Amino acid sequence: MVTLEKSGDQFNIGHICTTAQCEAGRGDKVALRWISAALERTDFTFSELDRQSNRFANVLGGLGFQPEEIFFTFLPKATEQFFAFLGALKARVVCGTLFANFGEEALLDRLGDSRARGILTKKHFLKKLLRIRDRLPNLEYIILVDSDEHLGNGVLSYQRLMDEASDFFQVAHTGPETPSVLHYTSGSTGKPKGVLHHHRAVLSQSYTAAHVLDLKDDDLFWCTADQGWVTGTSYGIIGPWSLGVTQIHYAGNYDAAAWFALLEREGITIWYSAPTALRMLMRESDELYGGFDLSRLRHIYSVGEPLNPEVIHWSRRLLNHDIYDTWFQTETGAIMICNRPGVELRPGSMGTPIPGIQPAILGDDGGAIPDGEQGNLCVKVGWPSMFATYLNNESAYESKFRDGWYYTGDTARRDSDGHYWFMGRSDDVINTAGHLISPFEVESALLEIPEIAESGVIGAPDELLYEKVVAFISLHQGVEYTTALELKIRLHISNKVSSIATPQEIRVLERIPKNKSGKIMRRVLKATYLGADIGDISTLEEQ
Ligand code: AMP
Repeated sequence: MVTLEKSGDQFNIGHICTTAQCEAGRGDKVALRWISAALERTDFTFSELDRQSNRFANVLGGLGFQPEEIFFTFLPKATEQFFAFLGALKARVVCGTLFANFGEEALLDRLGDSRARGILTKKHFLKKLLRIRDRLPNLEYIILVDSDEHLGNGVLSYQRLMDEASDFFQVAHTGPETPSVLHYTSGSTGKPKGVLHHHRAVLSQSYTAAHVLDLKDDDLFWCTADQGWVTGTSYGIIGPWSLGVTQIHYAGNYDAAAWFALLEREGITIWYSAPTALRMLMRESDELYGGFDLSRLRHIYSVGEPLNPEVIHWSRRLLNHDIYDTWFQTETGAIMICNRPGVELRPGSMGTPIPGIQPAILGDDGGAIPDGEQGNLCVKVGWPSMFATYLNNESAYESKFRDGWYYTGDTARRDSDGHYWFMGRSDDVINTAGHLISPFEVESALLEIPEIAESGVIGAPDELLYEKVVAFISLHQGVEYTTALELKIRLHISNKVSSIATPQEIRVLERIPKNKSGKIMRRVLKATYLGADIGDISTLEEQ
């Protein structure tokens, strides 16, 4: 049985995940089992995690960081990211994490909006950051995990700073409503929004880690999510460590054989992954899995996109396990609705609410929608990990709430036994392989290409990725669409936004359909793509 190691009114997540674990007698227990891309293992105990995060808290203090200032990590999987994240939280500095695939424009939007003062990254990304730095007047420090020397102009060596910092750090009292973690999330209009959480969120994260993921003291937990997204912080850092549970993190990319070798060799007991990864595994031949002994594996969970029943059937047949789908989002901070051991699993449904969470299916007018019918998925406000605000965008935050309900932006239906079924998004946000992509961000980046006159971007169904990014463009007069131009477009989106936002398909139209106020009619583009009925187009601009 594991419980949240929290005493009194100290809500500091950094403290709870490290010092409190040592105080509870887990100092010598492995907290982080780090597996390199070459499958080499390095263990870090809770004491080590405590010391390293203390050092980083001191590093930030030494650089003059004040509570509530904002620091980011921008790294692929790396041990330093965990130390820095927890260290920043110990110092009550808000820690944001940025997905390592982000391009310049994506970084500029997020670092600029948050007025971040510092970022932890690696040399490989330095050029990208230096290209935008003159537009980021608040960004004083760029700390490099792989530079032995300080490079001047605020570009510092992580190792040197850490070598000079003390192991000791006294975490100040941190109340429940102290700002903690920041993740940017994509909308269908406007720039990405900074979802800010409070230290109090640890209550929901540890509760769900214990009661949904069913973590026990001797478990070995593997969450495959990247730390750039909320699952990677809520369950790849906070939930398990707040309970003193050992986590595995693997630096390598998707590789079915390596993943299964890891599951077997390490004896992973609880595995949290995502539908796209599971569908990729399902595509491999059955023989690949035959030789692996997964007898220590207790449960498999999934999050981020709808989980098709076929994947559950595959897992039952081949791995002898159910896959428990869980639903949450950046704004909710922790799992809200899920399948879990001991509760009847209906393949294709995302399950039932966890105790204390009250979802509802409501119409646009706020009225209740009968069971079996589709409506807005809402959650009654007041759960501990509810986001505190959208940074610098109070009006967008307020627009998400009505009459005490939070409107999630998803549509769903509830069956008469209380199981929830995901239907889609109520906005145009694209979910590709579990990553939310803003069509607006891609459309804006497309317009930076001189040959392109107009753009409209949609998500279209995809068997592997759930949705793929499809871009419609119209070209300036006299411009011809060539393979070279297509390549240029792909590279531009990858460099400016991110490789996951790069359109899988590009279609050229004479004009992009817009309504009378100039808004792109993505609904029409989607219907055109799917060959479906375009519906009411009376609001289209005169062509
Ligand atoms: P994010 O805020 O990036 O974590 O994305 C959250 C969104 O991903 C949700 O609002 C859903 O649209 C989608 N999502 C997350 N989990 C599930 C799930 N289990 N089933 C279907 N969609 C999901």
